[in-house]
Amino acid sequence: MIVAIDGPAGTGKGTIASLISKRLGFTYIDTGAMYRCVTLKMIRKGVKLDAHLSEIENLLKKIKIEFMNISEKQHIFLDDEDVTEEIRTPEVSALASPTSQIQVIRDKLLIMQREYAKDTNVVMEGRDITTVVFPNADIKIYLTATAGERAQRRYKELVAKGIQTTYEETLQAIMTRDENDMNRKVAPLMIAKDAIVIDTTYMSIEEVYDKVHELITDYEMSKDM
Ligand code: C5P
Repeated sequence: MIVAIDGPAGTGKGTIASLISKRLGFTYIDTGAMYRCVTLKMIRKGVKLDAHLSEIENLLKKIKIEFMNISEKQHIFLDDEDVTEEIRTPEVSALASPTSQIQVIRDKLLIMQREYAKDTNVVMEGRDITTVVFPNADIKIYLTATAGERAQRRYKELVAKGIQTTYEETLQAIMTRDENDMNRKVAPLMIAKDAIVIDTTYMSIEEVYDKVHELITDYEMSKDM
């Protein structure tokens, strides 16, 4: 079964996907983390956003991105190195959005994403999972919430990690990313016409989880009938 979840930053996609993975045994694929890995590799190799296409293709040729569960937490490995924390810095966050607009990068990650979902139950979250990667997913969900609420959640996360920032800065960064992700030409974030929209602004994590769990159970029952 493929559960596809899209939505802007800070709507709880990762938290919900992680709970589905832990409680129902699905493989969790965080596609935003994949774009962040490519971004980190570009920063490290000094490959700029306007680099020649061949330079970017070269960088993608040997890229390895793997997900691994260690002590109940998902870790991400870029070329065999654990980069779970490093891909979450504000620098990588800000550059991941323009990086993800480069078509050859999207093409490469699309192949990897479809490959991960072979022969296993998967919950995959991102911006184009319900529209481009798996338009025929068994369950398609679009999570949303107000920008203020999403910034508040993200700000708390960053502070807990000891990253220095302010609420205003976090809100500004979220609004800039929304603008980029929704208005870009390449795979813009949009609501698939048959996706179920859940506004999480006033919902707890458990309430959102219950709703998604109900959708999965209903789907399984409908298949059994
Ligand atoms: O989900 P997260 O905030 O980690 O994603 C980082 C960036 O990667 C997003 O701002 C978005 O521009 C890009 N992205 C994308 N397509 C996806 C997942 C993420 O373009 N499927």
